[in-house]
Order: sequence, then structure tokens, then C-alpha cells
Amino acid sequence: MSQEKVIAYIKGRLESGRMREAVEASRIAGISLSKEELQGYVYRYLENGWMSRAVEGSRAAGISVPEQDLTTYLDKYLEKGLIYSALEASKITGTSLPKEKLIMVGREYLLNGKLNPGLEAYGIVNETPPEEELIICGNRCFTEGLFYPGLEAYRIAKKTPPLDGLLICGKKCFEVGLPTQGLEAYEMAKKTPTKEMVRACGEKCLLERRNEEARIAFVAAQKIEDTMKAEPIEIKETSFKILGSSKETEESWTGFGPKICMDCENDEEFEERYFILTRCPDNKEEEKWLDDTMKEQYGIEHYCVAVDAFEDDRGLIDFVVCGKCGSQNVDFDL
Ligand SMILES: [Zn+2]
Repeated sequence: MSQEKVIAYIKGRLESGRMREAVEASRIAGISLSKEELQGYVYRYLENGWMSRAVEGSRAAGISVPEQDLTTYLDKYLEKGLIYSALEASKITGTSLPKEKLIMVGREYLLNGKLNPGLEAYGIVNETPPEEELIICGNRCFTEGLFYPGLEAYRIAKKTPPLDGLLICGKKCFEVGLPTQGLEAYEMAKKTPTKEMVRACGEKCLLERRNEEARIAFVAAQKIEDTMKAEPIEIKETSFKILGSSKETEESWTGFGPKICMDCENDEEFEERYFILTRCPDNKEEEKWLDDTMKEQYGIEHYCVAVDAFEDDRGLIDFVVCGKCGSQNVDFDL
């Protein structure tokens, strides 16, 4: 080995906390390492939360680290929530960890959606995490698309996961390219994801060369599409108020934009009725059926269908009558 290679090897060992190997290599190669440099590494290990590596390394290098320094680092680990480092440090220094501190650390983890370290911290002091912390953790997991940890948090809390949490999680899972979890979440919520959502998930998997998952997503998307098409369209009247407060429409939804009556030029007073279609018409026959049905059932001849009011296949019908002259001949000034 050339001199440079040996030096690089030693440096690599030092960087990764393997001081004993570095010291041995330097001895064999006759390269001297200064005590200051080695001490610098020992404290860097401590700083990183690697107390056992620091202690082991300092012994190999013949450097003494005061006991007081170790306990100071133990406190630091607890403060930073480095639970595993703190545990290791407590074993090395023979200091028992304060119960309330561990509970605090565990709580912090759970509130941040980190289920396993949270449970671990509570487990060390033989405590069960409070239900509300578990639920917050579960919800946090769901938001981040961590379906199984989320479920687990709710299971330990002995609660049923909420519908909206499951749907949020399912959606997130599809977004990040986890079709199986996404489908499971929707199934548990007894809802059907949109085929667009599932297909986009498949495309993401495909890009990332996760072919089996891509296949799962595409098969599911196709199945959703087939099921949807087989279902007859249903029309349900709704109201501006219901739509505006619904979580399904965009948050800023305030109805369809400005309008003008083509007969009297009124542009501020309108009467509107809204209808939701379980899916948008797929072909000319269905469009005709919709026209006929709207006329027969509601006496409506002019209406417009918004196909992207929701994030799925549903359509939103807006029927507008001029508040001044009663004409249905109203134009949308989009
Ligand atoms: Zn008018």
C-alpha cells in the first residue's frame, strides 16, 4: 500500500469511529497520529452520540476522557432526544436515566409521528403512552403516508382509525408510490380511490423501476375504471352552502365565476341550483340521457357541467337563472 493510501485508510477509519483500527494501522505503517488529533476525534464521536466508539477509541489511543464529560454528554443526548445514544451512555456511565426525562423524550417522539422510538422510550420505564399521544402520532403517520405505523398507533390506543385519516393516508401513499398501502387504506375506509390517483401512482412506480408495484397500481386503476363505467349515472341536487363547506371541493370554492344574462345584461342577481353527478357522461348517449333527464326531472334545459370540481370522476352541474328577467340564457364570463 502506498503511503497516501495508508493515510486515506486511517482517515477513513477515524471518520467512521473506528479509532482502534486507525491506531493499529498507523503503528504498523509507522505513521504518527497526534494526541490532539485523536482527542479531537474522540470528542467528535461524543458529539455524534457515539459514546461507545468514543470510549473504545480513547482506550486504544491511550487518551483519558473524564467521567464528568461522559455524563455531560448523556444529558445532551437526552436533551436532543437521542434516545439510543442516551441509553448506551447510561450503560457506559452506570447512570440510570430519569424516568420523567424518558417520558418526555417518548412523548416528543410520538407527537412528531415517530412511533417506534416513542414506544421504546416509554417501554424502558415500563409505561404505556397516553392515548392522546398515540392518536396524535397515528394521525401524523397517516399524514405522512406511513400507513402501518399509523394503524399500529391506533391499535395500541385501542381506537379505530378515523375515516378522514385513512383517506389522507391513502392519498399520500398513492402520491409517494405505495399502491398496496394506498389501496388498503381506502379499503379500510370503505371508499374507492380515483382511477387517476391510482394510475399516477403506478406511473411513479414505473419511473422508479418498481415494476411489481406499478403493475398492482395499473390493475387496480383499470378495475376502478371498469366498475365506474358499469354503474349508471346518478344525479343528486345539492346546494351552494353544502358545496362551499364541503371538504371535497377546493378550499377556495366560491361557486362558478362571474356571469352575465344574455337577455337583459344583468350581471349580479342570479338564482342557482347545483347537482352532483356520480360520474361524468362517458359518451354521446349518456350526454343525451343527462339532457333528457335534467329536462324531465328538473325542468332544466341549459346547464353547465364542471368535470374537475372534485378530485374524482364526479361532475358538478350548475344551473343558472337570471334573477331579473328569469332567462336561462346566462353566459359564464370565465
Ligand atoms: Zn336577464
